[in-house]
Amino acid sequence: MHDYFSLQTSTALELLHKFIQAVHSSLDTLQISTVAVRLFSEVLDTRMLTLYQTDTTQSQPLLHILTQVPLEPRCPQIVPLAPEHLPLLSKAVQNPTPYLIADLRDPYDPAPVELVELVAPFTDRKTRGLLCLPLWCGEAFGGMLIAQFKIPICMTAHVLTILGSCGRHLATTLSHAHLHQTTLQERLRLREVLDQMPEGIIITEATSGIVQYANPVSANMLHLSLADFVGAPYYHPLDVLQQARGQHAEQQQPLFLWTFAVSRALSGKTLHGVETVVVRPDGTQLPVLCSSAPLRTSQGLLTGAILILQDITLQKQLEYERNTFLTLASHELRTPLTAVLGYADLLNEIASTPQSDPIDPSLLGIAAQNISSQAEQLAFLIDAMLDLSSLDCDQLMLHIEPTNIVDVLKQVQATQTKTTERHCIRIVLDDQVHAHGCTLPVDAQRLTQALNNIVNNAIKYSPNGGDIEIGMRLEGQPPFQIRLWVKDHGLGIAQDEFPHLFERFYRSPKLDASLSGLGIGLYLVKQVITRHDGQIWVESIEGKGSTFFITLPWKT
Ligand code: ADP
Repeated sequence: MHDYFSLQTSTALELLHKFIQAVHSSLDTLQISTVAVRLFSEVLDTRMLTLYQTDTTQSQPLLHILTQVPLEPRCPQIVPLAPEHLPLLSKAVQNPTPYLIADLRDPYDPAPVELVELVAPFTDRKTRGLLCLPLWCGEAFGGMLIAQFKIPICMTAHVLTILGSCGRHLATTLSHAHLHQTTLQERLRLREVLDQMPEGIIITEATSGIVQYANPVSANMLHLSLADFVGAPYYHPLDVLQQARGQHAEQQQPLFLWTFAVSRALSGKTLHGVETVVVRPDGTQLPVLCSSAPLRTSQGLLTGAILILQDITLQKQLEYERNTFLTLASHELRTPLTAVLGYADLLNEIASTPQSDPIDPSLLGIAAQNISSQAEQLAFLIDAMLDLSSLDCDQLMLHIEPTNIVDVLKQVQATQTKTTERHCIRIVLDDQVHAHGCTLPVDAQRLTQALNNIVNNAIKYSPNGGDIEIGMRLEGQPPFQIRLWVKDHGLGIAQDEFPHLFERFYRSPKLDASLSGLGIGLYLVKQVITRHDGQIWVESIEGKGSTFFITLPWKT
């Protein structure tokens, strides 16, 4: 029996052969390393085999254990790739040829302690022979295999060369596997990003036209399940649409189908933000901005196309609201303007009438009064429009000053009484108001404007006249909460409209065409009240009347 371990050339060659066959068939790093370590341990009588791999994904490059048999928990799992501090590592990093220490406790070696230090921390004192196979792939150091033997070892230069080939082969395979895994991870990461995008994204293969990837948003936009969509040709949704068409025969096909954008990208052309609509199988439509681009390899080979669909429902809605508003606004402005021009004509006629002709003097008064009230209405509309644009730009400023709220109510009553003959506007104050008064730091002008708006509505939407009550109450104990209300006995409001009343441009669809308005009054009122830290809501019964409530906090 030998007191040292040696490896025959034929066994080493057989190992290399098995290596070439077994290792390269996998792209899984762990599987490759396990097979490699098993093949080595079949021919090397080791007490321990450890396969380290370099990890350059961290800010500081590391070496970490891929596989080890048997597992030795005390062995460092991760070591910094710092060859200057680890002599064995520095040998592997500097030279790709296998490195062998025949006997770490060689009695003839002049400095055995130094030898042990050389291999630390990769081995311990139980090890006699040590073989280190540096794993080099091309110019890159990819790790090392350390075989530790209980007894001294002896290998010919030829055997070491063959083992070196095994190491190179292992390094190349591990490097391919690593590349493959990195690519997969990158793809997964990209997919996660695309999955989270707010736009609909569809990626199509060039040769087959098959949808390779679609994010959930795109499937949602097209009303298709991802399972039906991905893996089918990109024009498949049109077939689904065609089948559903029977039920929606009246549905118009858009001029520009989003699938055209994919076809164009597959023919190498790029499209930027074409506006179109997506027609879903249930007949509903979605306005979208459609962009597409070809996908190419670094050599310029066309591999597919990417399509981006951006939902523009909100923009379209705003555009629609703006257009409706402009139409309404021009109509609303024209009405008082026509009256002003009419009465101005009347005054001209009166002025040019010969003095000899008797003129009813009350005519002058009527004309002047109408011109002034219509001009006021014009100013009111223009102010509302200006306020709306200030709010849009977030520039509605409040000028807060101590204000007697009872005075504000009286002013609103006086202003609005002038505009109607069929309504009786009353002010109701509770005893607490009489006792404590009510002076608050508010923007008097804005609050007056808001209450004018509400009372103006109460008049407008009570076409048959009736009582209108402007009320104020101090609630709770000091500091009170101030409650204001405006109550009418007019048309009332359906309950399902309550949530929309304070939205921009909202007008009841049931309104008679003679009841003009811009649908911005209550929106502005709500903005003014919330900027005073108050709240506004309505209670109403259709056909019986409405009460608008406002609460304001007590402040000094
Ligand atoms: P506008 O009066 O110009 O239409 P507003 O924003 O002031 O716009 O009001 C929005 C809508 O709320 C009105 O169109 C109307 O349908 C409803 N509304 C407001 N006040 C009343 C009220 N007192 N009675 C019935 N409906 C009202």
